[in-house]
Amino acid sequence: MAQYDVADRSAIVTGAGSGIGHAIAILLAENGTKVVVQDLDADAAQATVETINAAGGQAVAVSGDASSTEVVEETIKAATAMAPLKIGVNNAGIGGRSAKVGELTDADWEKVVSVNLNAVFRGTRAQANVMSENGGGSIVNMASILGSVGFAGSSAYVSTKHAVVGLSKNAAIEYATEGVRVNSVAPGFIDTPLLRKMPKEAYDALVSKHPINRLGQPEEVAALVAFLVSDAASFITGSYHLVDGGYTAI
Ligand code: NAP
Repeated sequence: MAQYDVADRSAIVTGAGSGIGHAIAILLAENGTKVVVQDLDADAAQATVETINAAGGQAVAVSGDASSTEVVEETIKAATAMAPLKIGVNNAGIGGRSAKVGELTDADWEKVVSVNLNAVFRGTRAQANVMSENGGGSIVNMASILGSVGFAGSSAYVSTKHAVVGLSKNAAIEYATEGVRVNSVAPGFIDTPLLRKMPKEAYDALVSKHPINRLGQPEEVAALVAFLVSDAASFITGSYHLVDGGYTAI
């Protein structure tokens, strides 16, 4: 039985080959959404598509860099070919090299800005235009708890995530009367491939920052996103939604 009212429409989910984006694509498909699985990693995107299609859902893959205007256009075409585009989840993101701000190179900075901010801008722009012409929709942009607080060694990541929160608020104001809702989501540290690469000591230190005393699971973020893009969230726009095990409550 469907838990979220998201059927009879299509969705674009970027970074959906892995981690949080993968869990979002699977949950939306389980609830009847036709999903464009977008990822830089073509094999990972195809694997998510195969999981969805094997379970009786409908999905197609679009590989490439989510910050490319051509790739964004390709996702729009693929989505609208399946069903009206009503859901955009701009989730692809990278951590970047850990270093103090004074030690970051231009290339370090620009790489993180390109994926974490430019891709979210270009996705939001294209999705909002299509949705406003088609009677509305819902966009969720993946921020982080680091969209509201800092984290030493991560100034590019923290800056881009703060900017994603601002972009989402502004787009929400601009499109509110056109039926397009725009929100941002702020996970605490989530147990994904991104974090499993770190040494055990660093991983345990991260766990201790969450009062709930564990990291989150991708499915726990997906549940919030599925609610926000569903019809049940019809009065929710322009806001920043934490799913952080109490990280920012301390
Ligand atoms: P993940 O497991 O590394 O998955 C991200 C996916 O996005 C990967 O498949 C990656 O491909 C892909 N990707 C990277 N650059 C891309 C690009 N330019 N265009 C399209 N796809 C691209 O990461 P995650 O932990 O699920 O993170 C997803 C989002 O949640 C990110 O925005 C992240 O900042 C945010 N977030 C994560 C956490 C956390 O603790 N995990 C916490 C707060 C917020 P490759 O593997 O080929 O790079």
